[in-house]
Amino acid sequence: MSLKSEIAKPIDVLNMTLDELKKKLHAAGIELYRADQIHQWIFGKSVYEFDKMTNLSEDLRNRLKELFVIGIPKEVTREVSVGDKSVKLLLKLNEKDSVEAVYMPMKERRTICISSQVGCKFHCAFCASGQDGFFRNLKVGEILSQVLLARDLSPNKKISNIVFMGIGEPFDNYPELLKTIRMLNSKNALNIGARKITVSTCGIIPKIEMLAEEGLQVELSISLHGPNDSVRGALMPVNTAYPVKALIETCKKYVKKTGRAITFEYILVKGVNASDNEANQLARLLKGMLCKVNLIPYNPIAEFPHVAPTYEEVVRFQQILQKFGVKTTVRFSKGRDIQAACGQLRSVHQKREKRKDKR
Ligand code: SF4
Repeated sequence: MSLKSEIAKPIDVLNMTLDELKKKLHAAGIELYRADQIHQWIFGKSVYEFDKMTNLSEDLRNRLKELFVIGIPKEVTREVSVGDKSVKLLLKLNEKDSVEAVYMPMKERRTICISSQVGCKFHCAFCASGQDGFFRNLKVGEILSQVLLARDLSPNKKISNIVFMGIGEPFDNYPELLKTIRMLNSKNALNIGARKITVSTCGIIPKIEMLAEEGLQVELSISLHGPNDSVRGALMPVNTAYPVKALIETCKKYVKKTGRAITFEYILVKGVNASDNEANQLARLLKGMLCKVNLIPYNPIAEFPHVAPTYEEVVRFQQILQKFGVKTTVRFSKGRDIQAACGQLRSVHQKREKRKDKR
């Protein structure tokens, strides 16, 4: 595509690495060091308008505005948890599409949970994101901009961890996921250590195999939620394509290849997957593997009317796993009072909008 045809549609700076931006500037006859300045404003100083980049001349700023945009989405709603101070943002990407990002301040950590798609194909029973189906993949800039806006909520604009656990299945948007990770990790962009970045998947086996070959030090988290095909399959339709045994075999190979532990997420739903029997099966499945199980008491959504086990039942489940030497933690969902299960805020907003449309 010629520069002339690209000029017709400004390019989102956030979709480009520093080198890619330099190439575009070079093609437009602009000095390469300007790319460093632009990145410094965006990633270092949270400035998202060319007009506010005061070390660029007015002429240059006008030229940049012809060529590029900085694709920062509009904040539609912001909900702050009274309990744990986590903040959930609903961000409007364009007239049709919105996504969620969550900022979670903890004692020593500032974690941001981001979305990788608009909607999701995988229809997990307990998840609000999958209920309305899949719309589209996010571009790199649309993922990075969530990080930038959520980071700006942090008192010193510093964040420690990123988790791909918002709306969408990151492995279903693999090329954009990898480029985003590299930009998050890059010293020229957000400079977040790979080990501080967690990719969470519903268990897409071919992509787990691909990630093992990438040489990235990111954390891998697998949504397991059931110790056998019948329990997991009832909660996660993806289990038909990638059943439990094959998934665990792939995980073992991943661990062997990368030397890195895997985290298995296990949402505990009373009467569904939280009995002693299921705890014992899960323990046998994972015994001896370099991994950790994260037990998450269910945070109910309207579409899946179940409840979490009691505190005592959660502890009992954990103790059974520990008896087999399986490392286990219990995580209570952040932001329970602000619809923080992924996709809940977007889903509530869409229902409100539909109601308005009907009026
Ligand atoms: S849990 Fe993840 S993969 Fe499953 S429907 Fe929700 S977003 Fe999609």
